[in-house]
Formats: sequence, C-alpha cells, structure tokens
Amino acid sequence: MLNLILFGPPGSGKGTQAAKLIEKYNLLHISTGDLFRAEISNGTALGLEAKSFIDKGALVPDSVTVNMLKSKMEQHPTVQGVIFDGFPRTIPQAEALDEMLKSKGTEVSLLLSLLVDDSEIISRIVKRGASSGRTDDTDPEIIQNRINTYKSQTTPVADYYSKFGKTKTVEGVGSVDEIFESLCAEIDAVLVK
Ligand code: ADP
Repeated sequence: MLNLILFGPPGSGKGTQAAKLIEKYNLLHISTGDLFRAEISNGTALGLEAKSFIDKGALVPDSVTVNMLKSKMEQHPTVQGVIFDGFPRTIPQAEALDEMLKSKGTEVSLLLSLLVDDSEIISRIVKRGASSGRTDDTDPEIIQNRINTYKSQTTPVADYYSKFGKTKTVEGVGSVDEIFESLCAEIDAVLVK
C-alpha cells in the first residue's frame, strides 16, 4: 500500500492537492476535517461533540478522532493506499495510525509537509471563509488559535516521522500545478525504491 500523510498548517492547500493526488495514484482520500463536517451536517452525536472543539479552533479529542478514522478505514478494506489529510495531528494520533497500519501489514510511506508562512495562511483562510461557509474560517481569533494549535501540537508529528526518514518538505507557495509536481516527485522517489 502507498500511505501518504499530507501535512501542513490550516489553509496550506492539503485538500486541493489531495484531490489531484488521489486521481493520479488511485488512493482513498481521508480528511478528518471533512468527516467531522459531514457528521455535523448530519446532526450526529459525534458531530455535535466535534463542533464544540472546531468552533474554538481547538483539536477534537484523540479518542474521538481515531475511532472515526478507524471506522472509515474499515469501510474500505481493499484500497491500494490512502492519503491522510489533516490526520495525524498529534503524537498519540500518529502512534494510533502506525499501530492500525501495522495490523494491516503496512505502514506510513511518506509524510509530505507543505511549507507556507503565517501571513500567507491567514490571507488564504480569510479568502476561503468568504465563500466556504466554514465558521472557523471567518473569525481572526479562531484562525490564530488553529495556527497556534498546529505549531504546538501538530508540528511534532513531522519530527516524529522524520526520525524514520519519512518526512519530506515541499514548498507550498506557487501554482497548484507546480506544488503538485513537487509532491509527485517525492512520491515517485519512494515508489521506485
Ligand atoms: P484546516 O486544515 O483548514 O484546519 P481541517 O478541515 O483539516 O481544516 O480541520 C478543521 C478542524 O477540524 C480543525 O481545526 C480541528 O478542530 C478539527 N480536526 C480535523 N482533523 C483533526 C484531527 N486529526 N484531530 C483533531 N481535530 C481535528
């Protein structure tokens, strides 16, 4: 299996790139943010719980997130590989992912980290908020909380996978196609191994 973690701060373009990558490499796209938003719009108990954290720009608790991800994986037992988008966002989530993939006889192939600076991120999120209807994309304080949470809780995940030589950093500013080409180059380098 080809298991990719698409990594980077909120608004770094993970969703846009994931949509292109799943086409090219025939992978299942799992975005925990999208899964939470679907639960919220379906009015489920899980959605209700998640919303209370998302609306503050905080992370949803690990146990809730990991269980949701596991059940999504179980719905697709025969996939060739997965793009994890917005997951793992904490070290315990990374450990849970490693354990889950190990039980399937596979592992994380690569963590691709999109590099985008804070001012660019904020302007992209504000632009997205004008049309996305995402409440967490409109309030500057919530946006700042998400960036702070990313720095304190999520960046250690890239360091964790770099210990296994699996983290690759890719410039996240440029045209969508340029960034896509850079990501593909890193993926293709792993595939020829
Ligand atoms: P973005 O990358 O723009 O922050 P996402 O759709 O990935 O957007 O996430 C939106 C929100 O959903 C996050 O701010 C967080 O509250 C919640 N969330 C998404 N993925 C996770 C995760 N793996 N662990 C905990 N919370 C998450």
